[in-house]
Amino acid sequence: MSHGHDQQQEQHAIGIAFFLNLFFSILEITGGLLTNSIAIISDALHDFGDSLALGLSFILQKYSNRAGNAKYSYGYRRYSILAAVINSIILLTGSGFIMRAAIPRLLDPVKPHAEGMFLLAIVGIAFNGAAVLQLRRGKTLNIRVVSLHLIEDILGWVATLIVSLILLFTDWYILDPILSIAITVYIIYHVMTNLIQSLRVFLQTVPDNIDTAALEAKFQRIPKVRSVHHTHVWTLDGVNHVLTTHVVVDQGTSLSEVIAIKSQLKHIAYEMHCEHVTLEIEYGDEDCSMNHENCEHD
Ligand SMILES: [Zn+2]
Ligand SMILES: [Zn+2]
Ligand SMILES: [Zn+2]
Repeated sequence: MSHGHDQQQEQHAIGIAFFLNLFFSILEITGGLLTNSIAIISDALHDFGDSLALGLSFILQKYSNRAGNAKYSYGYRRYSILAAVINSIILLTGSGFIMRAAIPRLLDPVKPHAEGMFLLAIVGIAFNGAAVLQLRRGKTLNIRVVSLHLIEDILGWVATLIVSLILLFTDWYILDPILSIAITVYIIYHVMTNLIQSLRVFLQTVPDNIDTAALEAKFQRIPKVRSVHHTHVWTLDGVNHVLTTHVVVDQGTSLSEVIAIKSQLKHIAYEMHCEHVTLEIEYGDEDCSMNHENCEHD
């Protein structure tokens, strides 16, 4: 199946990105210590965190493709979201360490080796660029988090390149910790955004690309459907959703008409990436009180 093949390619892509990043972060740590640049050291620590995160994605993504079983009836899709949450925590921790190292240097700037910074920045752009190209085809929330992140890394390296050029001709050493802090603040902002998005998946919110009211309106346009209520949509991993809804039809609706309604409704749902669809068909004024007053319906 082509779907399984995509997943496998995605796995492969994450694996390659992981090894590229691990190799590169070791190179950077060495380079950062040699050039005495906190901006480079920040990037090194940060990229090391990325390697851990990628390794985790690699392992958990493998799990997330497994079929469901008696205990995990929806399968393991949410493992990729779990990986995204753990990645975020690792990156936030790394960012904390960077801030702690960079802030004192604002008051007491240290001279970095500008030529070395320049060379490391060139290598940084090349390596992160290669990793982004590897991940380009991924579609899950997790892989989008990872590739977005690598693009930010490239921007960080471009900034490092510019600062190293300035430091070649001036003694504005304070630019090094300033850049380090700027990169870190930018990273924290994006990590928080992604973390909130991942937590929303766990909190069963309606996926961003789905408007429940519009979906109900679409269902109501199916011939013989009188009304629709109790529609709930949530997502397993940001891509594959789950839908439940109640469809009211007239008392005398025939079996074949109900089957036609079901198939049209499922067709609409599948187009919205709802892979698990559960329908309740109600005839006329049938009572469907569910003993839960908390959900948002009229
Ligand atoms: Zn990074
Ligand atoms: Zn409900
Ligand atoms: Zn109902």
